[in-house]
Amino acid sequence: MARYSDEIIDDVRQSNDIVDVISQYVRLKRSGRNYFGLCPFHNEKSPSFSVSPEKQIFHCFGCGVGGNVFTFLTKIEGINFVEAVQLLAERANIQLPTLENNVDSAKEALKTKVYKVNEFTAKYYHENLYRPESKIAQEYIKKRKLSNETLKSFQIGFSGKFDELYKELKKQGFEDREILESGLVNKNERGQYIDRYRNRLMFPICDVRGRVIAFGGRVLDDSKPKYINSPENVVYSKGRHLYGLNVAKKYDIKKRLLIVEGYMDVVSLHQRDIHNVVASLGTALTQQQGYLLRNNTEQIILSYDSDEAGQTAKVRAMEILQNMGCDIRVLQMEGAKDPDEYVIKYGNARFQNLVDKAISVIEFKVKILRQSLNLDSTNDKIKFLNEIAKLIAKIDNSMEREVYIEKIAKEYDVSKEAIYAEVNKLTYKENVDEKILNKAKPVIKHLEKTNEDTVSEAVKRRENTILAILLSGDVNIYQIIKQNIKIEDFKYDIDHKIARKLYEEFENGNSNISSIIDNLSEEEQNHITMIMAEDYGIDDVEKAIDDIIQTYEKDKLNERKLEILELLENPTEENQKKELEKELNDIIIRLAKMR
Ligand SMILES: [Zn+2]
Repeated sequence: MARYSDEIIDDVRQSNDIVDVISQYVRLKRSGRNYFGLCPFHNEKSPSFSVSPEKQIFHCFGCGVGGNVFTFLTKIEGINFVEAVQLLAERANIQLPTLENNVDSAKEALKTKVYKVNEFTAKYYHENLYRPESKIAQEYIKKRKLSNETLKSFQIGFSGKFDELYKELKKQGFEDREILESGLVNKNERGQYIDRYRNRLMFPICDVRGRVIAFGGRVLDDSKPKYINSPENVVYSKGRHLYGLNVAKKYDIKKRLLIVEGYMDVVSLHQRDIHNVVASLGTALTQQQGYLLRNNTEQIILSYDSDEAGQTAKVRAMEILQNMGCDIRVLQMEGAKDPDEYVIKYGNARFQNLVDKAISVIEFKVKILRQSLNLDSTNDKIKFLNEIAKLIAKIDNSMEREVYIEKIAKEYDVSKEAIYAEVNKLTYKENVDEKILNKAKPVIKHLEKTNEDTVSEAVKRRENTILAILLSGDVNIYQIIKQNIKIEDFKYDIDHKIARKLYEEFENGNSNISSIIDNLSEEEQNHITMIMAEDYGIDDVEKAIDDIIQTYEKDKLNERKLEILELLENPTEENQKKELEKELNDIIIRLAKMR
């Protein structure tokens, strides 16, 4: 794979502080020397994801993932190393040289072509919509009251028959390979080329930069499936884009952004001057789409359909967005199945009113709960109170708690004091549990000591400490360690592998840990950042090294001691026996001196 020079990579790395970059995705709080937040790579409730501004690394103690700023971007954006470098270079306004590589440039060339195929197709479909043969589509558009302006800004179109698009693309000089890659045309068993979309209303899907990356096609009769979408290809991967974001971004979406289910919802709301709206493109909201939302706006309004599928999608989206620390509101819609229908029926003002009145996640959950219970029954009433308390107890901010208690008490006619009492019970219990847990810790540690694993745990710890010292990047310290601890001395496979790499890099005069990380495997990166993120309590490095070297020597002597004892148990020649006994004696004296 083509790579940029180490100097350029270093330059890009140094121009992008890891805390700044990660903060765009994860809400971080400072605690001591590090920052902590909820890990974006696994689901968690309390933060175990740490970022070190000093070492410029991140590590999650929950799922073990870690690395530097490039690693983070490759993981969170699903891009490769080179793309991560490019993205961060752009962020820091660094001009990168052109990469020369056959594989990459061939792929880049194909990408460029597919973008061109898409762009042409969007235009072709759009123009096709106005042709006399497209009457069925025109009638549908009239029925949905879509204006010319709307059709234009979303480049809505109509796909033709059998292989019309294919022929047109060939006329434009595109090669079969490029056309097939776009997913707009399929080749059947008989070798015929057939358009994927026929007689459908076409919605081009664009990325944030406005490039057409895929299409959604809707039938105009009752045939199934109602919608089909482009397959993934070199320019399109599912779940990474939001329909309409490129258009919405032309307006003010900083404060608030609505997320809806369908293309028609977005288009219809736009036409009625509600521009801060995007769609999650078909299925459930993904983590990546969550980031896109969070990076573009302060408050997200979930405006999904009111049917069951919409409810499920809502709950799922809520979970994802809540874990990201987003401010979420839920739209409450009655009298229409989706925003499209609502805004056509009742108009802009009433829809805006709904948006202003959208409720918080807690209120939404309480509402759902209320619907499933009969508050005339004492049992249900108790259950209702308990569940409310559980929801409220999770809120950290006491002011916020109070506001909710006030609101809920009023709305559902339950006593404020009763809710308070329940919440207090829960939070008290939590505190007690925590205390018990803390007390239990030393006991657990003590038990571990009698475990057979203790030895290996100690070795692991020791090896990690050596690596931690090496990772300070001090060449003089490396020289001392190298003389006393051989690569073979590292017993754990992963430690062994990392030690080998570090020794190698140091030998080659490279002591830049950040750049060493770039050349490690995923497993090695995770391990190395775990070591870097952990505090080994090393105040005096030289003394720490001395201690460790001594332990190694001690281990070696002990091993030899056991070997000799074993040899002596077997019949041996008198001469050899004497020699062994002398060696044993020496070892015992040396060991005694060490203690
Ligand atoms: Zn994690």
